Amino acid sequence: MSLLKAEDIAVHFGGVKAVDGVSFEVDEGEVFAIIGPNGAGKSTIFNLISRIYTMTRGKITFDGTDITRLPSHKVAPLGIARTFQNIELFDHSTVLQNLLMGRHTHRSTNFVEDILFLPKVRREEREHRKRVEEVIEFLELEAYRGKMIAGLPYGVRKVVEIGRALAMGPKLILLDEPASGLSVEESQEVAFWIEDMRRDMGLTVLMVEHDMKLVSAVADRVLAVNNGRPLALGTPAEVQSDPHVQAAYLGT
Ligand code: ADP
Ligand code: MG
Repeated sequence: MSLLKAEDIAVHFGGVKAVDGVSFEVDEGEVFAIIGPNGAGKSTIFNLISRIYTMTRGKITFDGTDITRLPSHKVAPLGIARTFQNIELFDHSTVLQNLLMGRHTHRSTNFVEDILFLPKVRREEREHRKRVEEVIEFLELEAYRGKMIAGLPYGVRKVVEIGRALAMGPKLILLDEPASGLSVEESQEVAFWIEDMRRDMGLTVLMVEHDMKLVSAVADRVLAVNNGRPLALGTPAEVQSDPHVQAAYLGT
């Protein structure tokens, strides 16, 4: 069954057709990758799904709900979490604090209600901490939990960025270039985690990635885009050997 369905989505910025008629479906439990050269429109597709940008045309359905016109703050509570290509963490907060902030989409009460419904708030707080502890264990962040983001190596910050999204407890996680800037060993680790997210957490993964090795290792299906247009859709092997993809993406 498809969890996410994008139909003929497009967004134009003035004369720039950043995304111009892209359709795809991501099945539940699938790892689906979007590849393409720089400026192809990959991050923009994520911004359309998370409703940061409003579509010029097209339709997006998630888990049976039409989210095309939903405000962005209502998307995350439906079960869509994302990472950003440029890490978006609070530099002067700790790893633990950043992961707890990832939970704020689940708050069901406001400040006044907090006082009225203290037992409920305490129970929710316990649930937040439990989920965050699971994420810390899953991503092996134990040694960094109390450390300030600003002082951490790039590779660790990249993992915390994934953790912030995982802490939300999503059904679908959008990973924007999770391996960019990482060493070969770190990229391999990311590949293992993506596999585990699917297997142990039952997550569906939609990722944008340049690293074809990582894509071939983890993705069930790949969509290649260029200049906002779809080029090819299929297994990693099929897409890699597609002549249009080779011309556009591999520069051959
Ligand atoms: P990718 O992630 O594939 O490298 P992007 O999706 O970031 O590419 O960008 C695709 C194109 O859309 C680029 O030409 C970019 O300059 C343009 N673009 C993206 N967002 C905006 C925006 N908010 N305003 C104007 N142009 C944009
Ligand atoms: Mg991008």
